[in-house]
Amino acid sequence: MSKVEVPNKNLDGEWADRLAPDRRGLFRAGAGLAAAGLAGAKAQAIAAERKPLSEAAIALRTGRSPWGYETDKEPTPRPHSVRPGEETGLPERPRAYTDIESYHAHIYFDEDSYEKAVLIRKWAAERFLIELGNWNLEPRGPHVTPSFYFGFGRDLQPIIVPWLQLNSLGLTILIHPNTDDPRADHLHYALWVNRAQPVNAYHMKKANLAAGEPAVERIYPNTRPSVPVEKA
Ligand code: ZN
Repeated sequence: MSKVEVPNKNLDGEWADRLAPDRRGLFRAGAGLAAAGLAGAKAQAIAAERKPLSEAAIALRTGRSPWGYETDKEPTPRPHSVRPGEETGLPERPRAYTDIESYHAHIYFDEDSYEKAVLIRKWAAERFLIELGNWNLEPRGPHVTPSFYFGFGRDLQPIIVPWLQLNSLGLTILIHPNTDDPRADHLHYALWVNRAQPVNAYHMKKANLAAGEPAVERIYPNTRPSVPVEKA
């Protein structure tokens, strides 16, 4: 039987340090540090900044539950349905597909994948007459990670959906229709390219018609396409 190799613990520790989020921030802050590794004074300074638990935090862990001690006896409630058309049971008939006036494609990215988003954005703007929004580098609206979006009329849907399927570069893309029900558009009518991710849309409301808001979000194209769309 061959002897089992004992892993090099120092090397493992070094890699764990490199992968820790607070260290990654440090890499970005100083390229020289990254090259030199994080051994020594800087790593110790980070460790020293991690404060011990405060008394209040310890009290929270050992004190009384703010929920009381009868939560296990609460009856199980039946929540109301929030699915469109199912508030009082199953819908009587299907919804008209022509209720969809336009679509949004939301392209999500992070600090490691933003260059892919840059490319998709450039490619899309060159090819399609779309409403291209700004970069959102922080969560915005129901979108919980950095993103950008573009809107397009339903006439472009048969082209843009397959184009995004083939050109996502692996990014997560939410394609949602625009009807008069924004919550349903984001939560129940959505298409996803690649993996889905959370969308914080449970509190989205229908337009306030009395205040003059349009029933369905409008699309105002702002690109000047100049490149023909790829096709076989
Ligand atoms: Zn949207």
